[in-house]
Amino acid sequence: MSKSFITGFPRIGEQRELKFALESFWAGKSEFSEVEKVASELKARHWGYQKDANIDFISVNDFSYYDLMLDNIVTFGAIPPRFKGLSETELYFSMARGNKTSVAMEMTKWFNANYHYIVPELSRESTFSLNSDKILNEYKEAKAFGIANPKINLIGPITFLALSKTTDGSCALCHLDALVEQYAKLIDQISNLDNEVVVQIDEPIFVTDKAEKLAEKIVPTYEKLTTKSNVKIIFMTYFEHATEAVKEVVKTKIWGVGLDFVHATCQKSSLEILANSDKTVFAGVIDGRNVWVSDIEAKLNLINEIKKYIPSERLNIGTSCSLLHVPYTLKYEEKLSIKEWLSFAVEKLAEVKHLRKLVDGEKFCESGEAWLKANKNAIESRKTSDLVNDKAVQNRVANLSKFQRDVAYEERIKIQKAKFNLPELPTTTIGSFPQTPELRQVRNAYKKALITKEAYEADIKKYIDDCIAFQEECDIDVLVHGEPERNDMVEYFGEQLKGYAFSTNAWVQSYGSRCVKPPLLFGDVSRPKAMTVEWITYAQSKTKRIMKGMLTGPVTILNWSFVRDDKPRSEIAKELALAIYDEIDDLQNAGIRIIQVDEAAFKEGYPLRRENIPAYEKFAVDCFKLSVSAAKAETQIHTHMCYSEFNDIIKTIEAMDADVISIETARSGNELLKIFKSVGYKQEVGPGVYDIHSPRVPSVEEIATQINVLLEVLPKSQLWINPDCGLKTRKWEEVKPSLKNMTAAVKIVRLS
Ligand code: GLN
Ligand code: ZN
Repeated sequence: MSKSFITGFPRIGEQRELKFALESFWAGKSEFSEVEKVASELKARHWGYQKDANIDFISVNDFSYYDLMLDNIVTFGAIPPRFKGLSETELYFSMARGNKTSVAMEMTKWFNANYHYIVPELSRESTFSLNSDKILNEYKEAKAFGIANPKINLIGPITFLALSKTTDGSCALCHLDALVEQYAKLIDQISNLDNEVVVQIDEPIFVTDKAEKLAEKIVPTYEKLTTKSNVKIIFMTYFEHATEAVKEVVKTKIWGVGLDFVHATCQKSSLEILANSDKTVFAGVIDGRNVWVSDIEAKLNLINEIKKYIPSERLNIGTSCSLLHVPYTLKYEEKLSIKEWLSFAVEKLAEVKHLRKLVDGEKFCESGEAWLKANKNAIESRKTSDLVNDKAVQNRVANLSKFQRDVAYEERIKIQKAKFNLPELPTTTIGSFPQTPELRQVRNAYKKALITKEAYEADIKKYIDDCIAFQEECDIDVLVHGEPERNDMVEYFGEQLKGYAFSTNAWVQSYGSRCVKPPLLFGDVSRPKAMTVEWITYAQSKTKRIMKGMLTGPVTILNWSFVRDDKPRSEIAKELALAIYDEIDDLQNAGIRIIQVDEAAFKEGYPLRRENIPAYEKFAVDCFKLSVSAAKAETQIHTHMCYSEFNDIIKTIEAMDADVISIETARSGNELLKIFKSVGYKQEVGPGVYDIHSPRVPSVEEIATQINVLLEVLPKSQLWINPDCGLKTRKWEEVKPSLKNMTAAVKIVRLS
């Protein structure tokens, strides 16, 4: 008989209770005991949900006040020296958020998810020590709550070190022996907790190409962690296949292996290896990264395939990864028209439960039968619904004949230069200006119908007027309207596109107390009417200078939405591209000469495995090119990306065929820019000349120096001068002097 498992459960709370408790504590408005109280309630509630769904393997230590990597840092005493000596709670949040004397630890994306973890910071001197209180206490707490055999979740030592950075250029993985010694001690302590304890050790680093090099570390590491016969270890992976690791795991005394059967294109090699082993397979078949109802029949077929290799006694059924990446529950979604097609964390528990029963051929009670019927209906209605299927969109995509701009870059840029007559080293900004509390209030009030459309528009226009006046005063060459009408660069467009739906409460943790509410792309996408033309043409009417139109690109919209799983992403991307295409056409016909199509998440969508990169690049580049193919030769297309690690992808960026790209550089250093020179990049580039992520105002000299550094890698004729990202998170007091210094610096360099 199979058993059911959940890789991990979200923790922020279905009403974001943890977020509010933390923020109140951080603001000094409540004691930490309040946060602890909320934490206990949340843990109990989450265990309760899983218990109600008869889940066999329910996790402990998937809860965290901030982040599980940070918890691991504390558990193994890998505290950076600048934080030593602080008391427990202060230490924890100082590492996450910084304090008066020390900057916070770095944060970065968790593989290809939109979750961000705290990056461990090591050096040659790092030592480790065990602090197991949190883990052992949570185990006891779960037992006391009535969970018979809690599964303890841990991040594995190899993944932990592989994701660490060092401050002195030393090698993080060189600490493996020392760290594993502490893990072994922890396993020792765990073995005393009960007659038998299951420990899930997450090693997702093995789903990346790094697995090739790291696989040899599995046997020596896990030999030391499998000495206790009553501690059963699951080697957990997710987001991709982990074949290199599986080959090694079968040589060890590890008890179980977790594999993602949703996102891995092929697990056949792993299954073949595991077929002839004694390992128990934790088959992740219910999608932990997406929000759609699972087609239970299709899942059953998938499991039957797996069963050709793995017998039921060695096969457990669960989620493809932690449910951290999906919202909590549909309970609060009263207004959502597509509710019946959705499945959030709590609903996914029911999917796991029923699927497990079906797999074992267990008899269904009445409510189980009703559940099954509802599942079938949801799948059927999604297939046939008019809400999803739009013949006009399907025909348009099927009959596409134009995929790129008519005129080649070399010709276009000549036409544009002659027409725009911009000075050398033209200046611009990335789009947004400070989002003040008053501005948010105006938008909220309008959304809630507390103010009239007229009042709202008057306020937005006033903001645009002020932005323009300020930019003219600074003498910036290409202006922006400031994006006051936009809450979020994806949501703003999603809200105006057919095929999108918006939840009221579908929050997902992004990092710490920060949550995002990705829009739900459920149907064929089209643009019923122009989305930005009114605001941009209004702004253009207020200035003689060039006003830049501002759009979010199709790849970014896709990467930051929950996307339907019943159609290939490459097809959906085309529909989004056509919506942007139409918008570009409307903008240029309304007299807008430069249009920026932001692709902030272009690189985020990169696959974890090398073999999948060419396909992603092709689809992403094609989709961008399709969207901007509307632009006439004299319409200049800009794009913006929030990073500059282009070494591997510079040719791909060039192939996107934008006339100008603005990028982040201020933080990543100028080294990365050399690539533009060494590969002979042809289009124009605006590498950010100062870091907008910090409140610091850069001086004129500093910016002038930075421009001169840029001129070493790119000729004057190819260079734009701009900050390195949008200014929405900054205050006017910071933005005003910074931009004034930027234009002053450009003038000095132009004269020299
Ligand atoms: N145009 C957007 C802005 O300025 C770009 C945001 C981004 O790059 N993340 O805010
Ligand atoms: Zn940016």
